[in-house]
Amino acid sequence: MIAVSGPSGAGKSTLIRAALDAVPELVYSVSATTRRPREGEIDGRDYVFLSRDMFERWIDEGRFLEWAEYSENLYGTPEHKVEEFLRSGRSVILEIELQGARQVREERPDAVMVFVRPPDLEETRRRLEDRATEDLEAMEARMTTAVSEVAARSEFDYEVVNDDRERAREEMIETIKNIVEREGGA
Ligand code: 5GP
Repeated sequence: MIAVSGPSGAGKSTLIRAALDAVPELVYSVSATTRRPREGEIDGRDYVFLSRDMFERWIDEGRFLEWAEYSENLYGTPEHKVEEFLRSGRSVILEIELQGARQVREERPDAVMVFVRPPDLEETRRRLEDRATEDLEAMEARMTTAVSEVAARSEFDYEVVNDDRERAREEMIETIKNIVEREGGA
């Protein structure tokens, strides 16, 4: 099992799609969420879209491998599907935020953790510090996020820096191929 995490806007989805295209043994775990579908998103392909009541029922029924609240919506990985894929000998890839990634690491110590990040986090920090006089509160909130994101990097087994699109794509594919080979497709 491979969990891919990283700050929003880092390009996780694009890189995961590239890996899925390149590695035939790999299968995507479709998450459940309470957020509304965005234009073009399809129920069951991009997410399983649930009402909050239904999501909470799934929590009570223990259906999630992990779940978390993010931006006022709930997101979770249905365990049943993941188990089914693993039993059929495939490698499963998850796209999850940090709290979920930490739960996966606890629950499944054999899961391989991949961190995707934009190239300019340190630069972002420097710029935020330079701008400190503008809106101190907003700056501090951003700093906290940036710092916790940078700190979280070390919790992961691999890091892919999404600097150049093509280069990052190649690195992601190589990384995932290596993991899948080592897992022996399990
Ligand atoms: P978005 O609303 O932009 O699709 O996703 C918001 C965040 O939720 C992203 O960081 C995404 O990786 C994360 N996410 C998507 N599915 C899951 C999931 O099943 N569990 C957790 N913990 N996070 C998820």
